[in-house]
Amino acid sequence: MASGPTVLMRLVASAYSIAQKAGTIVRRVIAEGDLGIVEKTSPTDLQTKADRMAQMSICSSLARKFPKLTIIGEEDLPSEDVDQELIEDGQWEEILRKPCPAQYSAIKEEDLVVWVDPLDGTKEYTEGLLDNVTVLIGIAYEGKAIAGVINQPYYNYQTSDKQKLREHRKEAKAGPGAALGRTIWGILGLGAFGFQLKEVPAGKHIITTTRSHSNKLVTDCVTAMNPDDVLRVGGAGNKIIQLIEGKASAYVFASPGCKKWDTCAPEVILHAVGGKLTDVHGNALQYDKE
Ligand code: AMP
Ligand code: MG
Ligand code: MG
Repeated sequence: MASGPTVLMRLVASAYSIAQKAGTIVRRVIAEGDLGIVEKTSPTDLQTKADRMAQMSICSSLARKFPKLTIIGEEDLPSEDVDQELIEDGQWEEILRKPCPAQYSAIKEEDLVVWVDPLDGTKEYTEGLLDNVTVLIGIAYEGKAIAGVINQPYYNYQTSDKQKLREHRKEAKAGPGAALGRTIWGILGLGAFGFQLKEVPAGKHIITTTRSHSNKLVTDCVTAMNPDDVLRVGGAGNKIIQLIEGKASAYVFASPGCKKWDTCAPEVILHAVGGKLTDVHGNALQYDKE
């Protein structure tokens, strides 16, 4: 009997297009210039208009197509009607043409939990470190992260323009011949796509860690690992990208602060290429809705 793509493949294909749309929202808010910054729990825990609009777009777009999903977004937002302009209805065809891993073929919509970080790296976003920013949509089944999409809205932006960007945010543009932004996606048992897997240089032990949420425990732990080099950058999504692209060997953050929406999608991409993400004791993270 011929049957169409499974629920999981349709969901990932939609999440890809929805993350791309969120990436355009993240760029548009910068271009318009009014970030609408709100402090949440501390001066390093921020929310901007882009976090709010991207979450509304992602969660409403997903819920319209998949009404039985459990969707959990980072931002606390009032429930209100979402502007039709924020709804993304597309799906990435290339994903629909791939086979669903057999162990996920019978999954139903109501069995899935989607963890949404509409803008990961908000502190850096407000400081013009735009390539640190990602949009994260992670999909969990039976408490395990099984599929994920990461959009990096400012991938390829002209690095020579970085300083100018901080001063004149409107000028974000791609380098010569390159499209601005990219989307990485993956499913356990299928693989991860949208980037070139690279190992860190042989013999080098490079740690990547937080830039704006450090404390003594974080730095002591990094120092104790005696790395050759330490990179301090924003965003959990961004740091996982550094691992899969061979810029760092390990992401170390021995402190509370990362939430399930920060790690769900990045964990899948890392695990799909043979990496490992755990809590500080080496235990797997749980992504049940509770
Ligand atoms: P960072 O590596 O500092 O970019 O943090 C990765 C993710 O975890 C970001 O989404 C941060 O907002 C979040 N995070 C980490 N530590 C904290 C903290 N102390 N307070 C609030 N959010 C945090
Ligand atoms: Mg985050
Ligand atoms: Mg966020």
